[in-house]
Amino acid sequence: MKEISCKLLVIGAGPGGYVCAIRAGQLGLDTVIVEAGKPGGTCLNVGCIPSKALIHAADEFFKVREMAQGHDPLGISLAAPAIDMGKTIAWKDRIVGRLNTGVAGLLKKAGVKSIEGRARFRDGKTVEVETETGTQIVRAETIVIATGSVPVELPFLPFGGKVISSTGALALKAVPATLAVVGGGYIGLELGTAFAKLGAKVTVVEALPRILPLYDADLVRPVSKRLADLGVRVLTGAKAKGLSQGGDALIVETADGKAQDIPAERVLVTVGRRPATEGWGLEEIDLDRAGPFIRIDERCRTSMRGVYAIGDVTGEPMLAHRAMAQGEMVAEIVAGMKRSWDKRSIPAVCFTDPEIVSVGLSPDEARQTTAELKIGQFPFSANGRAMTLQGEAGFVRVVARADNHLVLGIQAVGSGVSELSAAFSLAVEMGARLEDVAGTIHAHPTQSEGFQEAALKALGHALHT
Ligand code: FAD
Ligand code: NAD
Repeated sequence: MKEISCKLLVIGAGPGGYVCAIRAGQLGLDTVIVEAGKPGGTCLNVGCIPSKALIHAADEFFKVREMAQGHDPLGISLAAPAIDMGKTIAWKDRIVGRLNTGVAGLLKKAGVKSIEGRARFRDGKTVEVETETGTQIVRAETIVIATGSVPVELPFLPFGGKVISSTGALALKAVPATLAVVGGGYIGLELGTAFAKLGAKVTVVEALPRILPLYDADLVRPVSKRLADLGVRVLTGAKAKGLSQGGDALIVETADGKAQDIPAERVLVTVGRRPATEGWGLEEIDLDRAGPFIRIDERCRTSMRGVYAIGDVTGEPMLAHRAMAQGEMVAEIVAGMKRSWDKRSIPAVCFTDPEIVSVGLSPDEARQTTAELKIGQFPFSANGRAMTLQGEAGFVRVVARADNHLVLGIQAVGSGVSELSAAFSLAVEMGARLEDVAGTIHAHPTQSEGFQEAALKALGHALHT
């Protein structure tokens, strides 16, 4: 049995773990990272990146299909297009492969030792890793748990065969004729929309009274309208019950209590993710939990001295950029720097059609702590750039305190607004006032002018509406 010692051991090379290890390496810490799968974790291999690749491919295909059907107001026409999903998936896999190699290279450049294999705690300072060449023991002064999350499985729709998780959906070699999506949250709607654009007849089954319950109704309305335009059937307040006897349909109890069969060549179950807390010896170290997650404090410390946890395994929001920010912070803490979680906001972007962005507080959230607000909303239908991009649906909304005009939150829904999230986050993080946003020259013609106009509107003197 081989044995090594190090200052810092990171378990899991997803966005949380690999960023933590790179930063630790940069700071001169003797660092080891262990990964059971491929570098990059869920996000890079079966999450953020491959899903956005598929969404882009679907958008491109849908665009040309609309043109071929003579629906294009730009006057472009062409012959009926076809899509070779095998090639699409191979293109997506090449992107993933390039990024796998990139992450491995960055770890190496930072002087981090990578071990391939599954780690298991022996005690709070010792981990054993099952590698291809045998068991490797790693002793570390400090350990960071970054084991991520896995899809939630419904007992009456276990994964396998036609019932797939997001991982299965991102590897389909053919577009199913019919797709039932259970769960109208992030993944269900991002991938459901993509498959609808690729030609599948999609039905979304959501248990709650509305889809994307994390976002307020005004933000979700343009998405619901677009889903209807794409022919996606959305059943809210509905419960999936299991597969029909012949296995060719999903049985659903609709809001009125009636049973319905939804034809489904595939059933995509996207009802959330749960922390990966099993199979690596958590019971050996008995850490405190916050519900199913590992409990952490503002420095990502767990209940055991010298053991930190970051990313999805520590709770909501389960987003890659939160994991990365925690990873960077923990590396700096271990290197002796004075750091604690001091972020004003964690941006959230939903890559639906149109996209949704939310940074900081929504109007309802802001009302809970602030009596008087100034809210400005600017529609993309009054934005020249949005018109030229055929993206007039949606708006930008700014929420600020009425007394000192401090910006508390910014939301937008619209085509391509994910790229506005940087400006929104910067404004909230820097403590911008409405006057700062309104007084900044925004390039014309860009969708970002909608941000400036929303701030002007909150101040009572929007120029273009
Ligand atoms: P993970 O990325 O889950 O990585 C954990 C790693 O630990 C894995 O590689 C795993 O193999 C490894 N591991 C686990 N146990 C062990 C062990 N015992 N030994 C060794 N290795 C181990 N987030 C966004 O911010 N934007 C998006 O657009 C987005 N899109 C998504 C789309 C999909 C389809 C999915 C599924 C998720 C998406 N997410 C998105 C969420 C994002 O992927 C996660 O928030 C992020 O990956 C969490 O990072 P992490 O480092 O905590 O864990
Ligand atoms: P989610 O929490 O976004 O959505 C799950 C949905 O399923 C909810 O609307 C919930 O009400 C519904 N639901 C739960 N049980 C149900 C049932 N039995 N029948 C019908 N509906 C049911 O979860 P997800 O879509 O699986 O995504 C998991 C996580 O991955 C997200 O929370 C997010 O943190 C991350 N993610 C982020 C992005 C992004 O940032 N763009 C994209 C994809 C995933």
